[in-house]
Amino acid sequence: MNILLIGSGGREHAFATKMVNSPRCQKLYVAPGNAGTSSIAENVALSISDFEGIKSFILAHKIDMVVVGPEEPLVKGIRDFLTGDPLTGGVAVVGPSQKGAALEGSKDFSKQFMARNGIPTASYNSFTKETIEEGLKFIRDQRLPIVLKADGLAAGKGVLILQSYEEAEAGLKEMLLENKFGAASNKVVVEEFLSGIEVSVFVATDGVDYKILPEAKDYKRIGEKDTGLNTGGMGAVSPVPFADHAFMQKVEERIIKPTVEGLKKEQLDYKGFIFIGLMNVEGEPWVIEYNVRMGDPETQAVLPRIKSDFVDLLFSIGTQDLSNYDLEIEKGATATVVVVAGGYPGDYTKGDKIHGLMHPNDHKSFTFHAGTQANEDGNILTNGGRVLSITGKGENLKEAIAHAYERADQIRWENHYYRKDIGQDVL
Ligand code: AMP
Repeated sequence: MNILLIGSGGREHAFATKMVNSPRCQKLYVAPGNAGTSSIAENVALSISDFEGIKSFILAHKIDMVVVGPEEPLVKGIRDFLTGDPLTGGVAVVGPSQKGAALEGSKDFSKQFMARNGIPTASYNSFTKETIEEGLKFIRDQRLPIVLKADGLAAGKGVLILQSYEEAEAGLKEMLLENKFGAASNKVVVEEFLSGIEVSVFVATDGVDYKILPEAKDYKRIGEKDTGLNTGGMGAVSPVPFADHAFMQKVEERIIKPTVEGLKKEQLDYKGFIFIGLMNVEGEPWVIEYNVRMGDPETQAVLPRIKSDFVDLLFSIGTQDLSNYDLEIEKGATATVVVVAGGYPGDYTKGDKIHGLMHPNDHKSFTFHAGTQANEDGNILTNGGRVLSITGKGENLKEAIAHAYERADQIRWENHYYRKDIGQDVL
């Protein structure tokens, strides 16, 4: 099979690593990719939003399957664009339709979807500029803290958790009247705060059947013990000890089944991944959010645990044949540590030479690239805030964490940083 993978992060390097290890992958292209993907596949200089360019590439290179990593092209309708065109209509596309992607593209839509389908989530109300007075009144009727969410995509930054009514009112005004998150905050969801521990659950679905992938816990803050600014993600572990069999049964019955049933009932063409952000509130699962793709860095922890053929999994999603796929998961554990440029998530430098990348991936650990670029001399330079993610594998979490740090400790460049406490809270 000739495959085109869209995206350029650590998630896509992890996808690419699994794909090229499958006997079903003849040729893998990654658009636009990074220095990691270029070492195992062919990078293509195409923007993730250039649908016409992607279509021409598919036709010129006889692509059989397109796998979409990030949310942006999904929310913009890449699936509809490709499947609706007679020239590319026969290509398997992994990623939901634009309407399905609204589960991530609009928080208001996803809250309504959950309400319609009886899926447990925090109580809420949505407001626009026109209804701001009602919104301010609604805030006063809530318990503190109060959660405000920009309706649209805001690169993971559109959520404010506010400890006082005054701050919440000011936040709502900034979002609705001063475009705090641009057009994404033209509508704002005001919701109840859920207190508990978070876990991410990943589901592959072809719109009819589903398979549950290993769950993960991610670490979002820049500082150890979850302090400091929010980031795109500083690490992840899988499995998550508190997400035991009893908890996951509740997740399947109360959340996964009604979600997939809801997609069917509402005729949302959904062939792809659903990433469900959950809060475990005293043993009961509540949905915080849906994402319509795999997470980064959770993918780097989840995918190395999948034992069965990954290209088969993707193709059976894209061709609605998931009921015939046997998902096999490895017994052990993984831990992912993200190595970032010093200063991230604030200002940081790019173009620093990375040392210590000579170790090949082995049974103990993998290095996945994100913000990297190779120069003409073959050196790998930093090219973003989150630069590398290192995944350790082991028989248990303790061993996986040790393997991840063994490799992370070998990597250096001027001013690099990583958290030393990934997974410590769940050991
Ligand atoms: P989201 O962009 O929806 O994932 O929100 C970002 C983060 O905000 C989540 O990972 C949670 O840590 C937190 N969060 C969002 N909604 C809630 C809520 N209703 N209660 C508590 N924390 C929340």
